Amino acid sequence: MKSGISRIESKPSFWRWYGFDLDGTIADNTNHAFGYGNIGKPIKRMTDLMKRLHSKGYNVKIVTARLGDVGSNPRAHEELRQHIWKWCDRNLGFRPEITDRKDASMEALYDDRAKQVVRNRGITYEEVNTRLAACLEEAVKHLPKVSIKDKDFISECLKVLKKCKV
Ligand SMILES: [Mg+2]
Repeated sequence: MKSGISRIESKPSFWRWYGFDLDGTIADNTNHAFGYGNIGKPIKRMTDLMKRLHSKGYNVKIVTARLGDVGSNPRAHEELRQHIWKWCDRNLGFRPEITDRKDASMEALYDDRAKQVVRNRGITYEEVNTRLAACLEEAVKHLPKVSIKDKDFISECLKVLKKCKV
C-alpha cells in the first residue's frame, strides 16, 4: 500500500500545503546527524511520498527546527537553505520551500515526534488504537463462530494496532 496519500485531499489546492519534518522523518537521524553539515540518508518511504505529492501538484514543504537553531541571521538562514536544498537535489529532485513554522494553510504535518490528536476531541490516535486493540481482543474471545479467515484478519489487525502503541 502506498503510504499516506490515501488520506490526502483528492485534488491539490493552490494554498494548502503538506509539511515534512527533516530529521527522523525524511532523513535518517539514527546517528544523531544534527550537525550543520550533516543530513542523514533519505528515508525512502517518506521521500517517495513527497515526490509523489509534488509530481501531482501538491505543495510540499520541509518543516525543520534547524532554521530556528541557527538564530535570526538571514545569511545563516540562506546558507542552511542552500545546504538542505543540495540534499533535496540528490534525494528529491526538486527544491521545496523550507520553513520552521506552521500556518493556517498547513493541511498536514509528517513528523517523527508529533502525537496526532483527534480534532476537537482531546484524545490521541495512540489512545484510540490502544482502546480499539482491547475491543478487538474482546471481540475475538466472544465470537467463536467467526471464520478462520476472519480470525486471521483480526489477528493481523491486532498485530498492527499493537505496533502502533509505541
Ligand atoms: Mg524530527
